[in-house]
Parts: sequence; C-alpha cells; structure tokens
Amino acid sequence: MANRSSALKANAWHHRTDALSSIPVLVAVTAGLISPKLAFLDPVAAILVSVFIIKVGIDILGDSLAELTDKGMSPKERASIQTLIQGISHVQGTHRIRPGNRRFFHLDLHLEVDGQMTVRRGHEISETVKQALIARYPKIIDVMVHLEPANENPGIKPDRDRSSDYKKD
Ligand SMILES: [Zn+2]
Repeated sequence: MANRSSALKANAWHHRTDALSSIPVLVAVTAGLISPKLAFLDPVAAILVSVFIIKVGIDILGDSLAELTDKGMSPKERASIQTLIQGISHVQGTHRIRPGNRRFFHLDLHLEVDGQMTVRRGHEISETVKQALIARYPKIIDVMVHLEPANENPGIKPDRDRSSDYKKD
C-alpha cells in the first residue's frame, strides 16, 4: 500500500504541470482588464499555452513509444535492479523485469524462490523485494511480483532478461 501514495504523488505532479500552463492565461486576461494596451499579451499567452500543450504531447508520445519499444529502462538500471533483487535472501533468481513506463517505473518482475516455500513466506519475500526496490529507486512507484519455483523447468529458460519477451514460461 505504501507505493500507492507514491503513485498519487506522481499524479499530483502531472496536475501541477497542468495548473502551471493556466498562469499565462490568467496574466493575459488580468492585464487586458487593467489596460487595453496590454491586449497584445493575449496572443503571447496563447503561444505559451500551445508550447506547453505540445511539450506535454511530446512527453506522452515519448512515454508511450518507450513503453511499446521497451526502451524505458537502461541496461545499467536493469543490471542494478537485478543485483539488488538477487541480493535479497531466499531469492534464487529473477527475470523478465519490465519497467512499464519511462519516468515512473511500474515494475513487473518474476521472482524465483524455493518451490516448497509456504505462500506466507513467498509473500513476505515479495514484499521485501518490493519495499527494497521502492526505497532504493525513486523512479519505482509500484512493483508487481510474479512468484515461481526456481529450477522447476531447467530446460526452458529462454531470454531470461529480455523484458520484451512475453512468452509464457
Ligand atoms: Zn517467469
């Protein structure tokens, strides 16, 4: 649940950007009311707002493209995240780590643990991994953990670290 508030914060920041873009409009309208000579500020405000909108549009497009092409996470980030996860006790492996987004990671990963472990213990380990990731990386605002028994299918472990791999395993 702790990560939910981070998600809200991220959202609030987006709204603040929206609010920011209405400042030029407010200034232009107020100036126009004070003196008709300041009416030239109107098109200036319009241009400023257009620029804001174009900027937001490009950002959203960039995020969507990053998501589609899985360019959200740098190899360095991926390696670092992987090292942290594998350093947690009882974690035998991890694969298919997907960021979900470029600016804020909604991480999605597979965690390999002892297949004989209780559900309770497995859940505790998932929580530990989740909290450790959120605490260490400000970019990560949510983590979805898929638990699976380690070494159960030694034959099929293709592309373990390719996040673009959507095949079942
Ligand atoms: Zn898996």
